[in-house]
Amino acid sequence: MRSARVGELTLALLILLPLAASGHLAPPGADPTAMLYWLARVTGVLALTLILLAAILSFRIPGLDRWFGGLTRLWSIHHVLGWAGFVLVLSHVWLVAAGGLTTSVAAATHRLFPPLDHGAIWAGWAALLALLVFLAPTFKFFGEPGYARWKRLHLISAAALVLALVHALALAAVAWPWWLFGALALAAILWRKLLSPRMAGRYRVEAVDSLGPDLVELQLAPVTGTPMAHQAGQFVYLTPQDPTLASGCGEEHPYTLSSAPGARHLRIGVKALGDATRALQRVRPGSEVRIEGPYGDFLPRHPQPRPVLWVGAGIGITPFVGAVRAMAERGESPHPSVRLVYAVNTRGDAHFADELEALAANLPNLSLAIHERNASGLLDAAWLRDQCPDLERHEVWICGPAPFDRHLRMILRAQGVPRRRIHSEAFHLL
Ligand SMILES: Cc1cc2nc3c(=O)[nH]c(=O)nc-3n(C[C@H](O)[C@H](O)[C@H](O)COP(=O)(O)OP(=O)(O)OC[C@H]3O[C@@H](n4cnc5c(N)ncnc54)[C@H](O)[C@@H]3O)c2cc1C
Repeated sequence: MRSARVGELTLALLILLPLAASGHLAPPGADPTAMLYWLARVTGVLALTLILLAAILSFRIPGLDRWFGGLTRLWSIHHVLGWAGFVLVLSHVWLVAAGGLTTSVAAATHRLFPPLDHGAIWAGWAALLALLVFLAPTFKFFGEPGYARWKRLHLISAAALVLALVHALALAAVAWPWWLFGALALAAILWRKLLSPRMAGRYRVEAVDSLGPDLVELQLAPVTGTPMAHQAGQFVYLTPQDPTLASGCGEEHPYTLSSAPGARHLRIGVKALGDATRALQRVRPGSEVRIEGPYGDFLPRHPQPRPVLWVGAGIGITPFVGAVRAMAERGESPHPSVRLVYAVNTRGDAHFADELEALAANLPNLSLAIHERNASGLLDAAWLRDQCPDLERHEVWICGPAPFDRHLRMILRAQGVPRRRIHSEAFHLL
C-alpha cells in the first residue's frame, strides 16, 4: 500500500468515529420532525469532526506528511476538510431551523435564538461568526488575500474551534470524542506555533551565489553537526534571522532543497517574487537562518520501471536540480531513462542550464531539453513529442506555475498519458 493511502484511510476512519460513538448512525424513522433533527445532529457532528481534523492536520511534522503524499497534498486535504466542515455547519443551522419549522415559526426561532442563558447555543453562533471571519479571505470571497495576513487570521480559527467545542460538549450525549479530537487539535496548534519553530535547525549562510538578476542560490551549513537528511525534491521552511534584511526577517517561507542529499551544504535557489524573496537576494553571508523540515514527497524514492519525464518551469526547476546533482554524485541515474525539460521564457532565464548541461553530458541515461517560450511559442504537443516520441509510456513529474501545470497536464492527457502517471508540485499553498 502506498504511504499516501495510509493517511487517507486513517482519516476516513477518524471522520466516522464521533458519529459512530454518538450513536447517530441510524435514522430515527419516518417522522419528518425527528428526521430533520437527526439530520441536524449528524451534520453538526460531522462539521465539527471535519473542522477539528483540519486543525489536527496542520501539525507539519517532518516525515508524517508523507503518509498523505507530502505536505502540499496535506494542505489540500486540510483545505477541503475546512471547506466541507463549513458547508456542513451552515447545513446544520438550516436543518435545526427546518426541524423547528415543522411545528411553528416561533418554535424554530426559539431553537435558533433561545434566551441568553442557553450559553451552548450562543457559543455555537459565536463559533460560526469566527469561522465566517476566518474563511472569507481563505476562500477568496474578497479577492486574493496577503499571505501574512491570511496566516494571522488562522488564530481566529482557533477561537472558532474552542467555541464550537463548548457548543458540542454541552449538547453532546457522548463527550469523549470531542475531548480526544480537541486535545489533538490543540496539540497540533501548540506544536506548530510554539515547539516546532524552537526545534528548527540553526544554519549559517555560507555563501550567496548570484545566478541572475533575480535569483540567488544560498549555501547553508549547520551551526553544529551535519546538515539534515533529505531526499531530492523535498522542501524546507526557512526563517532568516538577519535583522538587516529589508523584509522577511523572522518570517518562514517554503523553499525546495536544490542540493544533493548528503551534500556538505544545503542549497536553496531563491527567485525574487515578492518582498521576502527579494530581500533574501541580499542576505548577508555569515547570518543565521532557521530551517524546519524536510517535507514533501514529490520525486520518486525508488527506481522507476517506466521512462521518466521531468518538467520544471522557471524556479520550478529546483527539485530537479537537486535530483540531477544527486545522480551526478552517484555517477548514474536510478531510473532507466530520464528526460528533463527546463521551460523558460528566454535562454537568459535558464539560470541552472549550464550546470545541468554539464552534468547531463556525464550521465548517459539523462537528457536535457530547454524550451524557450519566446523563441518556440507556448510549449505544445508537437515540441514535447519531438523530445519524447514515446510520450505515452512516460511517468511525468511537473513543477511550475499553476497555469503552466494545467496547460501541460491537458497536453499530456490528450497525448495518452493517464492521469495517475502525472505528478505535480505546486509552489503556492493558498
Ligand atoms: C513547496 C514549495 C516549494 C517552493 N520552493 C521554492 C524554491 O525552491 N525557490 C523559490 O524561489 N520559491 C519557492 N517557493 C515559493 C516561495 O515560497 C514563495 O515565492 C515565497 O514564499 C514568496 O514570498 P514573498 O514574500 O517573496 O512573496 P509574496 O508576494 O508575499 O508572495 C507571493 C506568493 O507566494 C506564496 N507565499 C508567500 N509567502 C508564503 C509563505 N510564507 N509560505 C507559503 N507560501 C507563501 C503565496 O502564494 C503568495 O501569493 C516554494 C513554495 C512552495 C509551496
